[in-house]
Amino acid sequence: MYGTFQKHLQDELKAIEEAGLYKKERNIASAQSAEITLQDGSKALNFCANNYLGLADNPRLVAAAEKAMKERGYGMSSVRFICGTQDIHKELEKAIADYFHTDDAILYAACFDANGGVFEPLLTAEDAIISDSLNHASIIDGVRLCKAQRFRYANADMADLEEKLKEAQACRFRIIVTDGVFSMDGNVAPMDKICDLAEKYDAMVMVDESHSAGVVGPTGHGVAEQFNCYGRIDIFTGTLGKAFGGAVGGFTTGRQEIIDMLRQRSRPYLFSNSIPPMIAGAGLELHDRLVENVNYFRDKMMAAGFDIKPTQSAICAVMLYDAPLSQKFAAKMAEEGIFVTGFYYPVVPKGQARIRVQLSAAHKKEHLDKAIAAFIKVGKELGVLK
Ligand SMILES: *Cc1c(COP(=O)(O)O)cnc(C)c1O
Repeated sequence: MYGTFQKHLQDELKAIEEAGLYKKERNIASAQSAEITLQDGSKALNFCANNYLGLADNPRLVAAAEKAMKERGYGMSSVRFICGTQDIHKELEKAIADYFHTDDAILYAACFDANGGVFEPLLTAEDAIISDSLNHASIIDGVRLCKAQRFRYANADMADLEEKLKEAQACRFRIIVTDGVFSMDGNVAPMDKICDLAEKYDAMVMVDESHSAGVVGPTGHGVAEQFNCYGRIDIFTGTLGKAFGGAVGGFTTGRQEIIDMLRQRSRPYLFSNSIPPMIAGAGLELHDRLVENVNYFRDKMMAAGFDIKPTQSAICAVMLYDAPLSQKFAAKMAEEGIFVTGFYYPVVPKGQARIRVQLSAAHKKEHLDKAIAAFIKVGKELGVLK
């Protein structure tokens, strides 16, 4: 039998090659980075990885992965619900939910699996999925695995989306699905407008933040942050294989009952192996360092006598209330070698001028101490601190 099938494959492969469409792989003999070494020893500058934050060979992540592997082993040899859940898997899910301001999260081996396993457990033939025409292949495949009716709207075209929402009004439930950033064009989905239409036509919203999380938005939290759409998006999916270290792993995060149902019924979760401890450990390292930095900065600043707004993110607002003072303060901080920005009306309400400080996982303790010392020095000079 194989003889004729072999001939068939050989012909097809030859046709691909003759059309100039045969995909060849580059063999890299170094870590993934901005500059890579190839197998023949030559070097190349790399402009085609999704290594947006340069974390793929980050020593801190490597150390966190090593530590998790030493403490929790190499692999899980089980799916999550049988005996594949460790404390660090739960902690990583919590960290992902915190990151996206959602109720809960569920890990998958890849975002391809997250998208493949999200629709079928939630929707039936009575329902409608309204999908952007440029959505990722894994969303398209996930939709195919589900019996819901399909509607496709032109890329980021809100008039067309509205048409499709009208057409889908007879269905029981509707969900709009979009990539956050469209990876081939680089445009961002207009989440605020999508959420407005979703409310108008009684639809849920799902966004795949694979290319946007860690990249887009004032602190890189993705398109939900960019358009301030927290609480209006029901489901997020994303990958650990791009900005967040680039290893492997995916997730779905969102409303509690949705995540609960996926844990019961999502096939790539139920029938595929748990992510290895080192991935969970390294993923947590990123988040922990950021949270540690935010807490450290906030606590020291409050102890020094500054008025800090309660924060749930990497943003720390140092309240000064007076607009000219906020500008003078920021200018003096720059003289100390610390870049921060003073914001006043109309960016913030009248009489609520402030310095906005954005913390990063990349800040080392020395950086934070230097910034805090400068805040205290300038605070005293300008009479903010006594
Ligand atoms: C890369 C990508 C995926 C696949 O992520 P993996 O974790 O590598 O499977 C899914 N959706 C979008 C939008 C992507 O860009």
